Amino acid sequence: MATLFKDVYIADGSRTKAERVHLLVSKGRIAQIIDASQTPPAADKIISGRGHMAVIPGFVNAHTHAAMILLRGLGEEAPLMEWLQNKIWPVEDKLTPEYIYWGTLSAMLEMLATGTTCFADMYFEMERVAEAVLGAGMKAALCRGITAGAPGKIERSLSNNLDLAKNYHGREGLITVQLGPHAPYTVPMDYMRSITDAAKTNGLGVHFHFLETKGELDNLGMSPTDYLKESGLLNTPYTVLAHAVWLDPKTELPDNVSLVHNPCSNLKLGSGIMPLTEWLERGAVVALGTDGASSNNRLDMWEEMRTASLLHKGATMNPVCVSALDVLRMATYEGARAFGFAQKGMIQEGWFADLVLVNLDKPHYIGVNEENLAAYLVYAGSSADVLGTMINGRWIYRNGEYPTLDAEEIMIKAREARDAITR
Ligand SMILES: [Zn+2]
Repeated sequence: MATLFKDVYIADGSRTKAERVHLLVSKGRIAQIIDASQTPPAADKIISGRGHMAVIPGFVNAHTHAAMILLRGLGEEAPLMEWLQNKIWPVEDKLTPEYIYWGTLSAMLEMLATGTTCFADMYFEMERVAEAVLGAGMKAALCRGITAGAPGKIERSLSNNLDLAKNYHGREGLITVQLGPHAPYTVPMDYMRSITDAAKTNGLGVHFHFLETKGELDNLGMSPTDYLKESGLLNTPYTVLAHAVWLDPKTELPDNVSLVHNPCSNLKLGSGIMPLTEWLERGAVVALGTDGASSNNRLDMWEEMRTASLLHKGATMNPVCVSALDVLRMATYEGARAFGFAQKGMIQEGWFADLVLVNLDKPHYIGVNEENLAAYLVYAGSSADVLGTMINGRWIYRNGEYPTLDAEEIMIKAREARDAITR
């Protein structure tokens, strides 16, 4: 089935100017893009934009813990370590595979309604997360969060993560799997090396929390450069470092290493501000993520784009840095490539039709045109403008409805799970 977006604006992180086009989606891909002044191609379904709709790439939330929506609101306004140790970890102990399944689905409702087509998730019971993702037809980069604990726990978690890769990596083109050592303060160095060795042997990427707080840097016991070298993180097929708030932007990073900026979570936990402008000047791959909903508390990439762009302008007193185009690219293409999704995150013929349909027929878009669309989206727009979210050419969210998910049942089950773990 072919869907035609007739007379819509398109914008992505590679276009300095938006374009007014007819965009044809067929067989899950962007089949054709032609100027809106030309005769539109034939299609089974036609969405008539009349110049009042935009199509942008679906967002990639490059660092989250989806099921943590079940912990939203617990332990507000506390520093990271206090929050984790006193509020989060004790409640997480009560999570069952079923709770995580329904919690993840509920997070997916939020993400889909705000235009996210893919999320990078680190948690546990990831088989259930994978089933939730496949059932919905969403995309995800999944890893099992590996932490030390009782004897044998790390080994079991790693073997569980490798099983996840064996069973789900590449499934239906929707899932990539990484290994997920949690952080320097939860995984001893010896184990870090065995995990990065396993990543190399199995051709897998690694998703890792690195230097989220100043305390983490102070307690690292060596320089970040030495840590990255000694742990083997620089020699994996690819490594994604979430947060990197305290990583010096002069640090040499090879091409296989990317960073994820989580501005709202870092601000809320008082962790500091990542030196994003310097990383971007150096040409580093920096994606954008929300982190879990219990430290954000939204799973909304629009909010993340706007915050990132404003935050660094204010912090560096430079209104030119971290442009609307920069954050749009970080929120889409950079996240996709960081986690091994090819041909995703740009509006290009032949690329996957993972798209967001945006309503420009609203007062805050008066004055929008080809020159300023990206800036309108980032500075004036919000997730309330999302009309639909399409993945592989199929609507997964459209006008408040979820064609592949039972939203009502998901919310009932997620509420029950929340009640059970906070009882
Ligand atoms: Zn995190």
